[in-house]
Amino acid sequence: MKQYEFWFVVGSQFLYGPEVLETVETRAKEMAAELSKALPYPLVYKVTAKTNKEIADVVKDANYWDECAGIVTWCHTFSPSKMWIDGLRDLQKPWCHLATQYNREIPNDEIDMDFMNLNQAAHGDREHGFIGARLRKPRKVIAGFWQDEKVHKRLTDWMKAAVGVAVSKEMKVMRFGDNMREVAVTEGDKVEVQIKLGWQVNTWAVGDLVKEMNAVTEEEIDALVAEYEAAYDIATDNLYAIRYQAREEIAMKKMMDREGCRAFSNTFQDLYGMEQLPGLASQHLMAQGYGYGGEGDWKVSAMTAILKAMGEGGNGSSGFMEDYTYHLVEGQEYSLGAHMLEVCPSLAADRPRIETHHLGIGMNEKDPARLVFEGKAGRGIVVSLIDMGGRLRLIVQDIEAVKPIMPMPNLPVARVMWRALPDLTTGVECWITAGGAHHTVLSYDVTAEQMRDWARMMDIEFVHIGADTTPEKLEEELLVKDLVWKLK
Ligand code: MN
Repeated sequence: MKQYEFWFVVGSQFLYGPEVLETVETRAKEMAAELSKALPYPLVYKVTAKTNKEIADVVKDANYWDECAGIVTWCHTFSPSKMWIDGLRDLQKPWCHLATQYNREIPNDEIDMDFMNLNQAAHGDREHGFIGARLRKPRKVIAGFWQDEKVHKRLTDWMKAAVGVAVSKEMKVMRFGDNMREVAVTEGDKVEVQIKLGWQVNTWAVGDLVKEMNAVTEEEIDALVAEYEAAYDIATDNLYAIRYQAREEIAMKKMMDREGCRAFSNTFQDLYGMEQLPGLASQHLMAQGYGYGGEGDWKVSAMTAILKAMGEGGNGSSGFMEDYTYHLVEGQEYSLGAHMLEVCPSLAADRPRIETHHLGIGMNEKDPARLVFEGKAGRGIVVSLIDMGGRLRLIVQDIEAVKPIMPMPNLPVARVMWRALPDLTTGVECWITAGGAHHTVLSYDVTAEQMRDWARMMDIEFVHIGADTTPEKLEEELLVKDLVWKLK
C-alpha cells in the first residue's frame, strides 16, 4: 500500500499583519506535528492561506500528488471565503473541515481584542463552513479541541475512510469467469462503477489461470505451505489438497500482481481445468488484503479490499460474508454467516484449522482444502453495495457478533454468528426492504460512520440500518432518496 499522507491547510488573511500570521504558522506547524503523532497517517502542514492563488495552488498540488489522500482545513483567524471558491471547486481529494481552536480555555485575565483577533476560529470556521455548503462540496466537519482523544479518534476514522477513497480510485478487479448464472444482485454496471468509484473490472479466462497454475514450481509450493503451517493448524492428512490450493494461490497472486489487481472473483460454475474451487487459496489471499467475492460477485470483492484497507494497519478485520441461515428461537435470534469455503481468517477468534471435505456444489473433482474457524465476538457492520439501475446504493447494518452458540461439529466451513440491529427480525425486514444482498463485507474494524463518510466522498446513496431504524422510517427514507437520486 502507498504511504498516504494528509495536508493541513490553515486559513487566514493579510488584515492582521505579519506578526499574527507568523504566530498562526508556528502554531499550525506545531499542531500538525502533534496531531501526526496521534493519527495513523501524517498530517503535513502546507500553507497559511491568505490569497485565492495560494489556495488554488495547494489544491492543484493535492489533486496531483498520489500520496495525498485528503486535505484538512481550519481557520485560525477569519479567512474570507470568496478566495476559497476556485480552490475548493477544483478539489478532487477528500476534505475534512476541522473546526478547532489553538487554546482550550478562554484566558480570563489576559483576554483582550488582540487575543480575540488572533483566536477567532469560532468566527472564521463559520465563514469557511458557509462556502462549503454554498458549493455543495462533500466534506466532513469535525468540531472539538485538537488535543482531545475524541477528536483524534474521529480524525483517525475519517482519514481511514479517505484512504478507502484513494484505494477505490485505483481498484482493479480480476474476474475469473463470469457471474453465477441467473443471479441478479451480483450483477452491476461496470462502466458506472468505473465512472463513480474508479474501479476497473475486467475478466480473465480460467484457462489462463490453469496455465499459470501448471507453471508453479514445487519449491514455490513448499514455501507457501510453510507459511500455511506457521499460521494455521493442519487438521487433515490430505496434504495433496493443501499443496493444490497453494498452487492455485500462487498462480492467482502472480496474475493479480502482474495486472495491479487488489481484488478477484471466481465462480464454482467455471472451474474448467481445475480440480478444486480455491478455498484455502482465496482465504489466504484475503488475509493478505486482497478482496474476494464468490459467484462472480465483483462488487463485494472490491468492497472487501476497500474495507480491509480502511481497517487497522491498512489490512483490518474485514471479510467477504454471506448470510446463510437463521436461529429463530425467541430471545436468541441470530444469523449464521459463512460461505462455501471462502471466509477470511482475519475474522477468526482463534487459530484456524486447515481441513478437507467433500464439496457437492460445482465442478470440484477433488475435496478442497479450506480454513475452518469461529468468528470473533464483538460489534461490527455488514456492508452491501447494490446497483439500483442508474445509481449505486450502499447499505450498512450494525451487528453484534457473538461466539457461535453451538459447536456445529459437522459444519465444514468457517462460521460467524451475529445479531443484526435493531433486532434480528426487524433488521432482516429493513435489510430486505432496502434490497441488501446475501453477500456482504463483514467488518469488525470499520464503522457505519466511516462508510457514510466514504459514500459521501464517492457521491453514492447511503442507507444505514442501526439501533434506531424502524421499517416505517426506512421506507420513507428510501422513497425520498429514490427521488433525490433521480434528480442528482
Ligand atoms: Mn455466495
